Amino acid sequence: MRFVSTRGGATAVPVSQAIRNGAAPDGGLYVSAESISVDPSTLPAGEDLAPLASALLAPFFGGDPLAAELPAICAEAFDFPAPVVRPDPADANLRALELFHGPTGAFKDFGARFLLACFDRLGDEAGPLTILVATSGDTGGAVGCAAEGRQGVAAIILYPRGRVSAFQEHQLGCWHAPVRALEVAGDFDDCQRLVKAAFADSALSRRHHLTSANSINVGRLLPQMVYVAKAALEVHRETGTAPGFVIPTGNLGHAVAALWARSLGLPVGPILCATNSNRTLLDWHLGGAYSPGPSLQTIANAMDVGAPSNFERLAQLPDPVAQVEVERVEDETIRARIVAEFERTGYVWCPHSATAAEAYARLGEDRRRERVWIAAATAHPYKFADVVEPLVGETLAPPPALAAILDREASARPIAADLASLAEALGDDGGARTEAA
Ligand SMILES: *Cc1c(COP(=O)(O)O)cnc(C)c1O
Repeated sequence: MRFVSTRGGATAVPVSQAIRNGAAPDGGLYVSAESISVDPSTLPAGEDLAPLASALLAPFFGGDPLAAELPAICAEAFDFPAPVVRPDPADANLRALELFHGPTGAFKDFGARFLLACFDRLGDEAGPLTILVATSGDTGGAVGCAAEGRQGVAAIILYPRGRVSAFQEHQLGCWHAPVRALEVAGDFDDCQRLVKAAFADSALSRRHHLTSANSINVGRLLPQMVYVAKAALEVHRETGTAPGFVIPTGNLGHAVAALWARSLGLPVGPILCATNSNRTLLDWHLGGAYSPGPSLQTIANAMDVGAPSNFERLAQLPDPVAQVEVERVEDETIRARIVAEFERTGYVWCPHSATAAEAYARLGEDRRRERVWIAAATAHPYKFADVVEPLVGETLAPPPALAAILDREASARPIAADLASLAEALGDDGGARTEAA
């Protein structure tokens, strides 16, 4: 099984090389060269995700140096559950797929843990890999947690100053070596641009053995198909109908994973992307051209994306507009939805997940009745306590994994949003690592 670039200008590579490269050398994104199908009836059922992950991902790792390691990688990465619950006792057709039971309380743990388990085994003959990750909030924490204490990789996290919640900021800066956080004077798109510029600087990239942990990396997208498969199979076995998925969307990583899962032959029905105020995806879907713009700041900050980095993967599918539906949800509506659901059902949605709850509500009676819809609950509401607590009028308790890091010290180094500042910070890293050793 080989991976090729969405732009068609790069050599086909096996999955571990695609993971090592991050973006393809021609600037495109890796996608599988052949179409793969799986027979859903052969996949293991149950709450334990690791056996399902091994079976589902095996075709993508066929012939790869990591193939023999895949079961061990899956056992390491999929060590927490993804339960499908009923958030509204009065509505059997709405399910929440809770993706926040991992160590950093957001679905990014799935991709980050799988990716780091791969990197750890890939190593680099010439020296440790440096993972450069731009984060709008949750990815950086997940990557930092998954990288902490490793020998063969270092992680550098770039996050936009003043655009992440207080808890997220703590969670970005609290990881021990070989993890460091950089607070960038700019927005998330600036952080992404900086990471791209660092890769484009081949001397810098070679010197630090740079690699990427952003959602463009196939090593993050592939594992995200696993919980989609789990939820789809579970609901399909129960109801006989392929469930719809409602997915809070920013960089389109999660949504592309659901699209890929559907193209494998899993029982995935309509895929509804819920965005915050950022309108790039909606405008494209309404028939306009794709015109990425600057990102708008919202209370669902992990989705503050004006230039969705996985768009090329969506656009490369046949009839892309027909593959997804799009609903845009503004902050006021997110707030109202959190309040309404809490008052009616007691279930607390995080601001991101609330866009999915809202998009489901907008479907209308007939479509809601026609099948089960699975809304992805992408983060634990505690991570956004500053937004959610005033709305529900209660103090939220942290889940145990999040409580465990509250006592740690956190620090980040401020940098300007330009490549020279990033290069300087990277340069310091060699010294910092030696000191820590
Ligand atoms: C990253 C994130 C999203 C958006 O996911 P994409 O794959 O970027 O579309 C939604 N919700 C939360 C909580 C996130 O951390």
